[in-house]
Amino acid sequence: MDEQDVAMKAREFITAVGPSALPVLVDAYARHIGGAVTTEALGEQEDAWSVLLPNGKYRICVNCAHNARRQRFSVCHEVAHVALDIPTDHSAPSWSYARRSPGEIACDVFAAELLLPYKLFKPRVDAADMGLAAVGELADEFEASLISTASRYATFSRELCAFVLSEGGKVRYCARSTSLRAAGAWVRPGTPMPADSLSARVRAGAASTGSEEAEPDQWFEAWDKDGSLYEDARHFGQWDQTLTLLWFDDDNLPPRAERKRWEEETQGLRELDGILPWPGKSKRRP
Ligand SMILES: [Zn+2]
Repeated sequence: MDEQDVAMKAREFITAVGPSALPVLVDAYARHIGGAVTTEALGEQEDAWSVLLPNGKYRICVNCAHNARRQRFSVCHEVAHVALDIPTDHSAPSWSYARRSPGEIACDVFAAELLLPYKLFKPRVDAADMGLAAVGELADEFEASLISTASRYATFSRELCAFVLSEGGKVRYCARSTSLRAAGAWVRPGTPMPADSLSARVRAGAASTGSEEAEPDQWFEAWDKDGSLYEDARHFGQWDQTLTLLWFDDDNLPPRAERKRWEEETQGLRELDGILPWPGKSKRRP
């Protein structure tokens, strides 16, 4: 079951429950699987657990010490375990993307769909400004975390846009818009954040004062296209997590080779590349 399958299953689930107002009611999702939510004092790193009771109902217990947004995500995550029939593996902390098992990541994908339903979220993404401030406003509206919201914001953006999550200064996760994927932009997980990027400076303690221009070939692997890239970043020292939003201000990105050909055609010139545009004298020799 890949991420697309999980997303489709989540959308079927949402259609069956039918949330229409924001923020969505996670208790309604829980009720749909025959679950009831309670809060309890759990271990500091423990988000939630759920258990099937003898009466066939589920009891979902979330950590009362966590903030409301994290509790909402935890409820959706527990619902995902039941809806997707994926056994629980909560050995790694939920905040660490790097250490999550595939089953747990699938439940996180499902939970993000439930909290930020495509039909309600996508029109707001289309209407929103570009940048993490706008993402923050959407996160408030949906009562979701900045990471979940930013990831889905980039995924559904009409712009050439990427969200990068880094832990300990290394890229862990990258979500890209359809157009950016089509342009071939890719930020490889495991690579360090560019040393002199805004993200690296914010991680080192610099104040974030809004977006600034960035170097595309420092972020994107084997990047050979033109375009002005912008970067916005936030750092959360508690988890050493850096959130980066990257976007191009161009509507389309002609590859350099195409642009070169265009310049040649419009200017009637050809760069001296060692190949003569007409046969040399030697070729006329019999
Ligand atoms: Zn889980």
